[in-house]
Formats: sequence, structure tokens, C-alpha cells
Amino acid sequence: VLKVENLNKFYGDWQVLHGINFDLKKGEVVTLLGPSGSGKSTLLRTLNGLEDYQSGAIYFHGKKIDPSPKNWQLLRQKIGMVFQSYDLFPNLSVMENILLAPVKVQKRNEADVKKEAEELLRRVGLEGYANSYPRELSGGQKQRVAIVRALAMNPEIMLFDEITASLDPEMVRGVQEIVEDLSKHDHMTMIIVTHQMNFAAKIADEVLFLEDGKILEDTPGNEFFKNPKTQRAREFLDSMD
Ligand code: ATP
Ligand code: MG
Repeated sequence: VLKVENLNKFYGDWQVLHGINFDLKKGEVVTLLGPSGSGKSTLLRTLNGLEDYQSGAIYFHGKKIDPSPKNWQLLRQKIGMVFQSYDLFPNLSVMENILLAPVKVQKRNEADVKKEAEELLRRVGLEGYANSYPRELSGGQKQRVAIVRALAMNPEIMLFDEITASLDPEMVRGVQEIVEDLSKHDHMTMIIVTHQMNFAAKIADEVLFLEDGKILEDTPGNEFFKNPKTQRAREFLDSMD
């Protein structure tokens, strides 16, 4: 679905991403692992058109993406993203948060989207919260709403950037289970950045291990956690225990 070819990105004179190459296949879950500052968030943001890049190419369904803002606006409807900070609109209810983009940007029928949104809310255990405001929700609940809001666009790919990092420990499992269910049940194509190795080991088809903006390893999940190819990845895994 998505192919990244020799992508280089700079902040000013400083290169943050170096020659990134990988393939994301339909239904595949790629987890992006690596130390803090290795460029994981930057890479995800680049794949969602939130950051520009200086050379290389991104292909969506085999078609090279013309990196113009207008084009990315279209593409962002196909590539949903959820961040560590849920960034819901505080002045809008849960349902209004979810409806906003599908109705305003995608011009879809409000009643249809609302029905889908209710179904999604039920699925993530938030039945009855449609009229609540973000401030009335726990961190875990807000993060579920953020996931539902992204899913309401009917994306083909979901990008998750440390979505459980700011949650209380008892909220983490529930949110992870939603992501697992998206993979198992919907065969959603996903890239997941996480510092939770148990979760990564459970869900990853493929692991990209990033350091200093370079992919040091592109290894199937079942191999990576047992037997990483590089010493650096081994040290990283040991440090996470
Ligand atoms: P973490 O695990 O801590 O979230 P990360 O792997 O997501 O780290 P990034 O946030 O992608 O890392 O940052 C990669 C590098 O780019 C870091 O050194 C960071 O300081 C730098 N960086 C990020 N955003 C900018 C920016 N807007 N301008 C300049 N440098 C930036
Ligand atoms: Mg990050």
C-alpha cells in the first residue's frame, strides 16, 4: 500500500532521516522501534504529510505522491494518525469531534457518519459518551475517542505514535486491545510506534529498528524479539526489560 524510497529529511542543515526505505503491505502491522530521538515521530509525521522531506519518494498504491499540500490533504483522509496527546477539540462533544472531518472535509452524510460513529463508540466501550466533553473523560477514554475519530474517516492505513505513553498503567491494556482488534478483526494496515515491547512483540508482523534516523533493521517481528540481527537492537531490547 505504502512504499518509502530513499527518503531524506533535514531540519535546517541537520539531517534527521537518512535514506529510509521500506514497504508497508496491505493488512500488515509494522512497528517502529528505537531510542528516544531516533526519528520515529518524524518519520510517521512525514508519512502523513505533516512534515516535508528533501529527497526520496513515497508511493501510495504504487503511485508516487506529489508532495504538494493539496495532495497531502487528500491523502490524509486515507492515512489516519493518532498521537500521544489525544488533541481532541475541547469545546466539542465526543460526537462533534468525530463528525467534524468526515462531514466537513469528506462531505459525507451526517446521519450516516453518526451511525458509524455510534457503532465505533460501542466497539471501544464508549457507548453513551457521545454527548460528553473531552474534559469529562479519562485519558484512556480520550484516547479511544481519538482512535474512533481517525477511524471515522475510513482510512486505509493507521499510524499510531505512542498512543499509550501518557496513560495510567491500568488504561494501557484496554487501548492496546483496541489496536490488536483492528489488526485481527479488520486487518487494518498499521504503523505503530511504541515503547511497550510486550505489545510490539504481540502485534508486529515486521519491525523497523531506527537509530539516528537510519533503519538499522527491517526484521520480521517473530525473529526480531528472539534474535535481532544487530548488536545495537539487542542492547536496545535488553535496556527495555
Ligand atoms: P521519542 O521516542 O522521544 O518520541 P523520536 O524517535 O520520536 O523520539 P523524533 O521526535 O522524531 O524522535 O525526533 C528526532 C530528532 O529530531 C530529535 O533529535 C529531535 O530533537 C529532532 N527534532 C524533532 N522535531 C524537530 C523540529 N521541529 N526541529 C528541529 N529538530 C527537531
Ligand atoms: Mg516520538
